[in-house]
Amino acid sequence: MKVLAILYNGNEAAVQEPRLLGTVENKLGIAEWLASQGHELVVSSSKEGPDSDFQKHLVDAEVLITTPFHPGYLTRDLIEKAKNLKICITAGVGSDHIDLNAAVDHKIQVLEVSGSNVVSVAEHVVMSILLLVRNFVPAHEMIERGDWAVSDIARNAFDLEGKVVGTIGAGRIGYRVLQRLVPFDCKELLYYDYAPLPAGAAEAIKARRVEDLKEFVSQCDVVTVNCPLHEGTRGLVDDELLKHFKKGAWLVNTARGAICDKDAVARSLKSGHLNGYAGDVWNVQPAPKDHVWRTMKNDLGAGNGMVPHYSGTTLDAQARYASGTKSILENYLNNKPQEAQNIIVGLGKYETKAYGQR
Ligand code: NAD
Repeated sequence: MKVLAILYNGNEAAVQEPRLLGTVENKLGIAEWLASQGHELVVSSSKEGPDSDFQKHLVDAEVLITTPFHPGYLTRDLIEKAKNLKICITAGVGSDHIDLNAAVDHKIQVLEVSGSNVVSVAEHVVMSILLLVRNFVPAHEMIERGDWAVSDIARNAFDLEGKVVGTIGAGRIGYRVLQRLVPFDCKELLYYDYAPLPAGAAEAIKARRVEDLKEFVSQCDVVTVNCPLHEGTRGLVDDELLKHFKKGAWLVNTARGAICDKDAVARSLKSGHLNGYAGDVWNVQPAPKDHVWRTMKNDLGAGNGMVPHYSGTTLDAQARYASGTKSILENYLNNKPQEAQNIIVGLGKYETKAYGQR
């Protein structure tokens, strides 16, 4: 059996730090195990264009392992060329880089390691909300520059206490974000999701559901995006929706870059309508050097909390998604049933309700 894994390069860091499991160098810790069973494992970071290792090896691979951090974009065209492909495993959470509808049509299963990095991301979201609301990034940059002008920072620094925070998507991550915000004494915690939270879960954190998206954003001081990318969420936060945000609102998106229209966000920030935007996900990854989100600023020259895609790939998360990937492979090799929560696309049908209402 041929297994193809598209991972990111860890370079010197991966040699020095073997817990960087999700790298080309450390191969999710499965190389020896697969070899001992007589299987072929090809690992590469080369993923763009017809001469990439991804496209060359895909044609006869039976298993494809990809990661959202360095996504091998599996389009319908490529699926049609991948005649042996039976199963795609996402080492992490979020399989939008795979054309899931094409996977359904071609009876290719898609599994992810559900839950493996949801705490990692929720912590990053809380951090990002705080760094925007408290105007942290320009304050730190000022210190590095050797300057000291308290008022230039304080003029746009606030407390999170007393603010309304809402999440688009209240699944594993969205719920954990709200849970972690309870001790901050926000004015209200809101959520927008077509799947209501179980009554007990909503009551435990006093979260209120708002069913209309425009109404929802118009009530929030902080909006955090925690839903998957699918047909119903691509470009969801566009010029039109941003008009309904409160003036001076903060937006944090660690879900997927393409859920927000990149130029609409940059425009809204520049005008000061959005006070800040933070996140780690980009519409194309790696993000081009001139991507507007790298350097966009609000009307006061601040409000940017962007980082590369790493919130869900802490060393703790890597240990969990590497072992989860191995479990999925073991089940597949031994014809054992997969854990239901990991199955995004089963044989010829969606098994999750999280990737859109069908
Ligand atoms: P989940 O399946 O537990 O929850 C997703 C929730 O979003 C579900 O409740 C679903 O009903 C809701 N949803 C779907 N479409 C919606 C829509 N149109 N409007 C409102 N809600 C909608 O998933 P999760 O574990 O919480 O992860 C969510 C997403 O976060 C992943 O799909 C992935 O894209 C992203 N993620 C990012 C990182 C990172 O490192 N930045 C890591 C893990 C996950």
